[in-house]
Amino acid sequence: MSRPALSAELERALLSLDGLAIGDALGEMLAYRYDEAAKRIQDDSMPAGPWFHTDDTEMAIAVVETLRLARGIDQDTLAFYFARRFDAAPDRGYGKMTRMQLRSVLEGKPWRVASASAFSGRGSMGNGSAMRVAPVGGYFADNLLRACSEARLSSEVTHMHPEGIAGAIAVAAAAAMAWQTREMESAERWRILFEAVINHTPPGEVQRGLEKAVGLTGASIEDAARALGNGALVTAPDSVPFAVWCAATHLQDFPGAISAAISGGGDCDTIAAMAGGIVALSVGREGIPVRWLQARERLPFDP
Ligand SMILES: [Mg+2]
Repeated sequence: MSRPALSAELERALLSLDGLAIGDALGEMLAYRYDEAAKRIQDDSMPAGPWFHTDDTEMAIAVVETLRLARGIDQDTLAFYFARRFDAAPDRGYGKMTRMQLRSVLEGKPWRVASASAFSGRGSMGNGSAMRVAPVGGYFADNLLRACSEARLSSEVTHMHPEGIAGAIAVAAAAAMAWQTREMESAERWRILFEAVINHTPPGEVQRGLEKAVGLTGASIEDAARALGNGALVTAPDSVPFAVWCAATHLQDFPGAISAAISGGGDCDTIAAMAGGIVALSVGREGIPVRWLQARERLPFDP
């Protein structure tokens, strides 16, 4: 079945969402034996679908719904879609703070108040705004500055802390750059992608992690996870640099990116969602195993 022609922007956002949803579902499924994830992915010994996704994809769907409706991140619309999807399916593994915030929004509290008051007024620096943002980078892939400013807007709805915002900007920038550099030689891509991501990420811990990541060219997955963090703390600084490293080391290898992201242990579904959302924009839908596309849970945008 075919669907009506979509804008190039929306097509890219949906491609990124595909990668994100598959990473999320595989990360969730393989997290308990993450040390075996690489072998299971290599042998393709995962069960038949549907592979159910978690909160990462639920929130990313809300992001894409907002992009489709408003052609950008309208924050009120995004908060509405977040809350509505949470209300319809609250048991998708949402973090405690996000549950509290979305419940407040459902009760009528303005999202800005709920977001600003998180963690005693510091705002959240969790990885929740980075895990869902790659489609924003896809949508605005031909305009890196816009991708970053829209990523900031999307983060603020739930994650107001500067590090939470920086994490979202970094992932969106990496996603946009994965698309922009998709026809370049690999050695050159590494440098160009990291340079752009580091330059557009606001200074702080996330940016310092990215600066560390760019030096880890030949490192093993274990060494990179140890040096950068693997999301076990579920903060943006502890997740985003490793996820970008997994993506940047596998820009032409979607299964390899997902495998690396999960093999780091830690917050497997979220790291793999971020890496998958980035690398999908580099390899295209042809670069994602057909069986994986068929096995993932259906999305509202499917034809
Ligand atoms: Mg999750």
